[in-house]
Amino acid sequence: MDLTARAPGRVNLIGEHTDYNAGLCLPVAIPAATVARVTRRDGRASRITSAQQPEPWEGTPADAAPGAVRGWAAYAAGVLWALEQAGWEVPALDIALGTDVPLGAGLSSSASLEAVVAVAVAGALDLPLDAERRRELVAACRRAETEVVGAPTGGLDQTAVLLAEEGRALLLDFETGSVEPVDVDPRAAGLELLVVDTRVSHELTDGGYGTRREQCEEAARLLHHPSLRPATLEEVERLDDDVLRRRARHVVTENERVLATVEALAADDWPRVGTLLTASHVSLRDDFEVSCAELDLVVTTALEAGALGARMTGGGFGGSAIALVPAERAEACRRAVDAAFVAAGHRAPGHLDGTPSAGAGLTP
Ligand code: ADP
Ligand code: MG
Repeated sequence: MDLTARAPGRVNLIGEHTDYNAGLCLPVAIPAATVARVTRRDGRASRITSAQQPEPWEGTPADAAPGAVRGWAAYAAGVLWALEQAGWEVPALDIALGTDVPLGAGLSSSASLEAVVAVAVAGALDLPLDAERRRELVAACRRAETEVVGAPTGGLDQTAVLLAEEGRALLLDFETGSVEPVDVDPRAAGLELLVVDTRVSHELTDGGYGTRREQCEEAARLLHHPSLRPATLEEVERLDDDVLRRRARHVVTENERVLATVEALAADDWPRVGTLLTASHVSLRDDFEVSCAELDLVVTTALEAGALGARMTGGGFGGSAIALVPAERAEACRRAVDAAFVAAGHRAPGHLDGTPSAGAGLTP
């Protein structure tokens, strides 16, 4: 047995900070991916190496139980543990992986790593990757990240990476758990979806993410709703506290923007999609306050360079931004962003292609 597994990174087109508010989002898989060469091994222990890390990991699934592994190997080996927990007979494998998804850039290198290991095991066991199996792999990858790594995740990343299809986004509804494919083909409309990795991470010491979550929960509580999902804009505007009002306003309007984006895509109305992306950014910047100078600079520069729309994507405080740009202006847009970063004294950003791509799988 000798096989190659592949799992992409992802960007969220729109629907930010909505997952933990029982809301909506619209991620796509991107061409950048983690690739693993997989062979069988004698004995019971698997061995996982990464081109991105000096230390390999070696052990049985039980050796990757929560608390037993630290660092990058927890993401990879944690999947072996989670699959064994789900009743799989995980064979001993040699997994040699490498990625062109930048680590920690908000493009989900972590879910990409988890998914490539999950697909490798399924492939080694000759299990077909049908929809049901893919959902099982999503659950195992989520368990690895939540329980073994210890980073609670709502499942957006793992779902996107494992269920995505070429030329499509996934409309995820965190209230019902539904996943619906939505056609998204910017190239056919003469557009490119650019991804800019700012290469900065302004982790807030007071935990910006945790604070936002608490504020959303508090706003929902004041409105007597189980989450912000059923809240209306009218209700939200009546909240006394200025900060809570703005946080809740972002969530409510962002859910509306996700639905409006799905409609605009169905109507092939790309200028409207662009307008919605930019409105999402403004809301994240002003109401939710999770942007930063570098992300704002990508957005304003891309718009000046002819983008139909642009926004930060992911949790914020750094990470990546996306821009929807006419193909003939894509290169000029990338160069304008580079020049703006030099002028502002920022470190050079990274550029990736955001073309909606296939989810994880085996490669022939
Ligand atoms: P993101 O998922 O946005 O890239 P995370 O902080 O969730 O950022 O995950 C990044 C971590 O995932 C890295 O610090 C590393 O531990 C692990 N990781 C991701 N890809 C790889 C890889 N190819 N090899 C080894 N570790 C990886
Ligand atoms: Mg991650």
